[in-house]
Amino acid sequence: MNTHSTLDALSNLVGADNVLTENAEVSFYTSDLFFEGVPAMAVIALGSRAELANAVKLCVEAGIAVLPRGGGLSYTAGYVQDDASLDAIVLDTRRLNQILDVNPDNMTITVESGCTWEQVSKAAAEHGLRVTMPGPTTGRYSTIGGSLSNNSMFFSSAKTGTAADAVVGLEVVTADGTLITTGSGAINNGVPFFRNNGPDLTGLFLSDAGSLGIKTAATLRLEPVPAGTAFTSVAFESFEQMIPAVQTVGRSGLATECLAVGAIGGEAGPSLHLTVEGYSQDIADAQLAALIGLMGPQGQPQEPMVPTFIHENGFGFVQSPLDPKGRLQIWTHGVFAIGQTLDAYKALRAVLDKHQTAMTEHGVDATMSFACAGIAMMVEPVLFWASKPTPLHLQGMAKVEAGQNTASDSADSLVREIRNDIRTAMDGLGAAHMQYGRFYRYADATAEKTVELLAGIKRIVDPDRKLNPGVLGI
Ligand SMILES: Cc1cc2nc3c(=O)[nH]c(=O)nc-3n(C[C@H](O)[C@H](O)[C@H](O)COP(=O)(O)OP(=O)(O)OC[C@H]3O[C@@H](n4cnc5c(N)ncnc54)[C@H](O)[C@@H]3O)c2cc1C
Repeated sequence: MNTHSTLDALSNLVGADNVLTENAEVSFYTSDLFFEGVPAMAVIALGSRAELANAVKLCVEAGIAVLPRGGGLSYTAGYVQDDASLDAIVLDTRRLNQILDVNPDNMTITVESGCTWEQVSKAAAEHGLRVTMPGPTTGRYSTIGGSLSNNSMFFSSAKTGTAADAVVGLEVVTADGTLITTGSGAINNGVPFFRNNGPDLTGLFLSDAGSLGIKTAATLRLEPVPAGTAFTSVAFESFEQMIPAVQTVGRSGLATECLAVGAIGGEAGPSLHLTVEGYSQDIADAQLAALIGLMGPQGQPQEPMVPTFIHENGFGFVQSPLDPKGRLQIWTHGVFAIGQTLDAYKALRAVLDKHQTAMTEHGVDATMSFACAGIAMMVEPVLFWASKPTPLHLQGMAKVEAGQNTASDSADSLVREIRNDIRTAMDGLGAAHMQYGRFYRYADATAEKTVELLAGIKRIVDPDRKLNPGVLGI
């Protein structure tokens, strides 16, 4: 089948209204918040899991690569193709938004992959429950499929880890259109409640950036919403003074959310913001008191406006990918062992200090943030600069104020250079990553035999390399 007849067949499958082929429309879907991609042939919006499976089969048989896309809020070229010689079609999964089963008996929720985290939270909340990792801050827009393919963290992460840790089982389409179930849901007569039924095939498809399969549905673990919540914020004189406190919080397992942030080179020192939850208010208060005791006397307690605001606003906390001044912002993170936090800070600080003169010249500001995901520490320099927002910056989320920014090629290229240097410094410390895509270096930074094994699995599930080719470097 040639590409035109494939497009006709896809149009018959999903309905002509769900196929975009105009360049202006397609280019919106092929650039993320940082990388501009090669335009795809088309974008198709799938309306059912069967449609998705058939669409993948049709595309792959016609030699067309498929680029899965959920909310589109990643910024590591996860769905952005850079190979102009490739015929590719974007699979927009956002119409796959059915809540398939809320099961308070088994404490699981099964949802289609295009559901947003907010949708899932609302469905669980009707039963007084929530997903053990309720979602990233972008949960109003980002999808279960996108977040599980990136891996993701924020709400509850200090206690329960990442989005991948909340997954009990998956349904995934491989390149020949086969639907595969993982976990105990795959047992004959079984139900999804137990991920490690034999080898962890669920884990194989998590954080894969869509390179091993396209997720159609996921079963996530639920927990009761705690009745008690307590907050604290603490200001520090320096990152060096704050980091031991952040490490103590991560090691204690007492906080639900732990976010620390400070400006690089600013007058004010960094601050740490904690949310602690408990079965009752008394228990939450007692846990917070214990945590404050563990952190010791360093730092100045502040009114906990930040954690309270985040908790009260939930997924409404993030309204825009632009900063409050209407500038672009970009995040580059590494995931480190808690014990490495100070070394990570020093290495990343050295990168920012090296560029400080050029940053001042081009109006590029930086912050560094730290967030706990269980015993992992996410360290994330963020760069802010005035430049032209992409269509995705302006259309992707609500209430965006574009500001008066005009394109600044020199600031853009400085930001690219700093971001690459940050990645290199992280490689030097053996950092792990979420959101692998095409920016972070999985294959180059990972043991050869491990990459060979993964590439071998890719050859089985995707022999022609048509599932998001190039991500993870495989
Ligand atoms: C302002 C802002 C705040 C953010 N805050 C957080 C945060 O708190 N925590 C955090 O972890 N991240 C955060 N992010 C990053 C981003 O929101 C998350 O990575 C989110 O999980 C992406 O979900 P998405 O649906 O937008 O994925 P997309 O960007 O659409 O896709 C992500 C990756 O998954 C693949 N993919 C998408 N759907 C599927 C599927 N069904 N099957 C297989 N592969 C698929 C894509 O090809 C791509 O490689 C933030 C981003 C912004 C802009």
